[in-house]
Amino acid sequence: MNKILKEKYPYLISFFETAIEQKKLFHSIILYGSNNYIQYAIALELARQLNCLEDRRIDCNCRNCRWIRENKHPAVVTVSKIDNKSDDSKTVISEEQINNVLNSLVSSSDYHRVFIFCDASMKKLSPEENVKYNEFKSALYNPPQEEKDDKIWYPSGVNRLCISSVGANEMLKSIEEPIDDVTFIFLTNNKDDLLPTIVSRSQLFSVPDFININYEIDFFKDYFENYPVFRKNNPLDFAQVLFNYQQEKEYSPLYIIDCIQYYLTELLKSNTNNKLLARKIYKDIQKTENSKKMLKAYIKEQTVYEDLAFYFYE
Ligand SMILES: [Zn+2]
Repeated sequence: MNKILKEKYPYLISFFETAIEQKKLFHSIILYGSNNYIQYAIALELARQLNCLEDRRIDCNCRNCRWIRENKHPAVVTVSKIDNKSDDSKTVISEEQINNVLNSLVSSSDYHRVFIFCDASMKKLSPEENVKYNEFKSALYNPPQEEKDDKIWYPSGVNRLCISSVGANEMLKSIEEPIDDVTFIFLTNNKDDLLPTIVSRSQLFSVPDFININYEIDFFKDYFENYPVFRKNNPLDFAQVLFNYQQEKEYSPLYIIDCIQYYLTELLKSNTNNKLLARKIYKDIQKTENSKKMLKAYIKEQTVYEDLAFYFYE
């Protein structure tokens, strides 16, 4: 097994090794958690183990292992709204795509066929996404699509909305009557985002995120100089500083809020003896948590920054 994955996910990886040896792996597997790159690496590693022509060792260089590391194996297929698609629907894994998958199963194959279902896009990565990408690359795998115009293939979790409902029902039939040497793997952030009928027929594995991210604090530190009193100027200036920095560095708004949250968490650690201040910091951390929820609900980042700034200046 891949060393990095084995070091970070020893229980999960040894479970897979044993399950493959004893042929007890389900035909449908759900990997859930917040780090979709690592899930994708684990899915490819599983595919490699299932297809290795030799002894499945980490440095095996057999044809199948090599192809899977390069992500060019004909029987290991990534299925997303932008991968392995023949129609022009832009937002979902389409009915046609799923029918292509199912039709391909009619003929027999020399390989163990693995279909990895996820959501995906080509995008410029934020710092935290970049850390995850490098971690994924250091597991020696290639993404299914090459970098293009600075944009990198970025996986995210699949949910009910990412799969056409007709297609999902078709797929369900095939999960109910599994075919030998075929494995479906779903990557998702939350298992409740998938159809309960798929979940109930799958083996589920939580994939925790152990990534260490570097948080920047210099761009807003001045404002916290007299914390909890904020620099005497307009809260909109503070919001603007956050927005400008995000634009300049092409960071995600979530990362900007994470930086503030990180700063407050460090502040809390050094002020645990001052009960009153600690309580105030804790409350502010909860506020940043709320800002993250707003962002995830697609509220515009300017609105979220302003909301946070007015809260700090109260
Ligand atoms: Zn091999």
